[in-house]
Amino acid sequence: TSVQRYGVIGHPIEHSRSPQIHAQFASQFNLALSYERILAPLDGFASTVEQFFKTGSGLNVTLPFKEQAYELVGPRLSRRARMAGAVNTLWLEDGQLHGCNTDGVGLCSDLLRVGHNPEGKRILLIGAGGASRGVVFPLLEAGCELLHIINRTSAKAYEIREQVVALDPDASRRLSAGGLDDHCGDWDIVINATSASLNQNLPDLPDARYRSHSLAYDMFYASEPTAFMRAAQQAGATQSRDGLGMLVGQAAASFQIWHGLQADVEPVLAALRQDLGQI
Ligand code: NDP
Repeated sequence: TSVQRYGVIGHPIEHSRSPQIHAQFASQFNLALSYERILAPLDGFASTVEQFFKTGSGLNVTLPFKEQAYELVGPRLSRRARMAGAVNTLWLEDGQLHGCNTDGVGLCSDLLRVGHNPEGKRILLIGAGGASRGVVFPLLEAGCELLHIINRTSAKAYEIREQVVALDPDASRRLSAGGLDDHCGDWDIVINATSASLNQNLPDLPDARYRSHSLAYDMFYASEPTAFMRAAQQAGATQSRDGLGMLVGQAAASFQIWHGLQADVEPVLAALRQDLGQI
């Protein structure tokens, strides 16, 4: 029998750590599989996916194609993908393409792993791009008390709220939105889902207030703690974490969908931290 093919598709794609992560998960179960990086032309996502699935079994989708993957899957979307408006995991079932979004469950499992169960928590989510949108529904599902989305361009935060509430009216009581300066109250978990860290920058939140046993979480990761993590600790956050655990968490959730197996994230995360020079 031939080895099952998996991969990650994006543009650019050389930077992706998914092949390394999935290879390590596979070795935990002695699974023989291949996992490739696939560069799709910017105007050729659908045809590249179609070509891959002639022999392939599953794909992860990364920037800038998650919304196109959502369109491609049509009605065969998981509830989480529908809520996120984006797809990061594709597979075939009965010859049909199916899609899910595992970014949000990746974040939630990482929050649990670091001892900050979102259940009953007041959560401030900064940013309203694709990453933010993908985690809103899973955080609500995890039972947070309040999820408040703020963004430099406040209209985009309101838009996410409206879209999620349209699909799940029950969410309206626990989901709110505003501009960057709209963050009164104390927070258990503050999540930076802006791309500011890419440029060693941070969203301007001079007076965010942290509760005791609070967590500052940056979705970004680098060899050093990010500017956001450092500022948050100064502002009173009890603990700060970067987004590497979310990355491994979303991969584990995709692995579970494809193989029905619950991989152990800890050793994989430790290896990645070492590669990044964090330890
Ligand atoms: P987008 O480009 O879709 O969104 C960027 C967001 O950042 C917007 O809300 C934008 O605000 C805001 N922003 C950018 N610069 C600043 C600034 N200086 N001050 C305040 N707000 C700012 O990016 P994504 O949502 O795709 O990604 C966001 C981050 O999350 C990236 O750092 C990415 O690496 C990370 N990420 C990590 C993952 C993981 O697994 N760990 C998974 C996915 C993403 P505005 O709307 O006003 O422009």
